[in-house]
Amino acid sequence: MLKEIKTCSNCILDEKINGVIIGDDGICNYCKKHKPFTPHGESKLLKIFKKAQNKKRHYDALVPLSGGKDSTYVLYLAVKKYKLNVLTYTYDNGFMSDFAKKNIEATQNKLGVDHIWVKHDPNLIKELYRTALLHSGEICGICGVGIERSMLKVSEAWKIPLILLGHTPTEANSFTSENIYDQNRIKAIFAQSNNINKQMLKRFLVYLNLDFINTYFYTKTGRFGKKIHILYYIDIPSEKEIGNILKNEMDWSGPEGSEYTRHFDCIAEPFTNYIRDKRFGSSRRIPQLSNLIRYNEISRDEAIRISEDDAKKNLPENYEKVMSILNLTDDDIENIGNIPANVFSDKRSTSNIIFTKVRSLLKKTEH
Ligand SMILES: [Zn+2]
Repeated sequence: MLKEIKTCSNCILDEKINGVIIGDDGICNYCKKHKPFTPHGESKLLKIFKKAQNKKRHYDALVPLSGGKDSTYVLYLAVKKYKLNVLTYTYDNGFMSDFAKKNIEATQNKLGVDHIWVKHDPNLIKELYRTALLHSGEICGICGVGIERSMLKVSEAWKIPLILLGHTPTEANSFTSENIYDQNRIKAIFAQSNNINKQMLKRFLVYLNLDFINTYFYTKTGRFGKKIHILYYIDIPSEKEIGNILKNEMDWSGPEGSEYTRHFDCIAEPFTNYIRDKRFGSSRRIPQLSNLIRYNEISRDEAIRISEDDAKKNLPENYEKVMSILNLTDDDIENIGNIPANVFSDKRSTSNIIFTKVRSLLKKTEH
């Protein structure tokens, strides 16, 4: 007899997902260890802002803008609430939705802020995405590194003391076990393609040998802006309320019929979830929806309805479009689906591994 797969009775995680354990009470380990979020405190944030303003630089803060809800809300807070002098910037990954582009223009006009676009040669970035996907089964990490590196470069060029990021507590636990941001791992993946030369690598990585330790010291010494997750410091309204604030005060608009995806700014997001589902048997959607249940953003029934709708779709949104941009065949997708988890993890940089260990030990002693 087949063993029945248990699903948590509080969220929608099931035992098929790596690391999920459901107890006799029907509740999963993630729900059990979940604590309501306690912000670090606004006074700490104000101190950080004051210090940055006292430096009297061209801009107090850099706000990377994706056109999505969280980064636009951060911009709203920085300019309207905290009266910071900001520079905004966007990394166009080649998959930006029209929604996102329109939002960026609308908010920029509304607030009268300066904005910079960073966009790589489309052929270069396509080759990088394609190679990463075919050999590692993953492309989000490449985009993540592109954003990170260009963000540091802009902060360095304008000597901007702070970088304000829109990561929120509800986004944690996406079950990415792969160290997709390690530059040595990325270089090893790119080495699989004969079409990628060192010059292309340099253009993409900006800093060819930047590891976590360098980044840490360059930030400490002020060469790079200090990253602040502003939404971890203050009480934040629900996702719906944030949407309303942005619509009313920022001329921002979300997609029709909210699907509760935070990443409608990227048209490749459903495709990447589809690939994740093929590789690991679970996409990021289920953990994300489960998180929203725990933070009372949506009900369990609503999450079930959304994930059932997802399952009904044969192919994700924009599938054909992404396939054609990256020049992929059905066979490629089949092969990508068979790439095991944590491939290339033996290529990780030793210094990054040590740095991550030391940092987690220090964090433990702090609390
Ligand atoms: Zn649960």
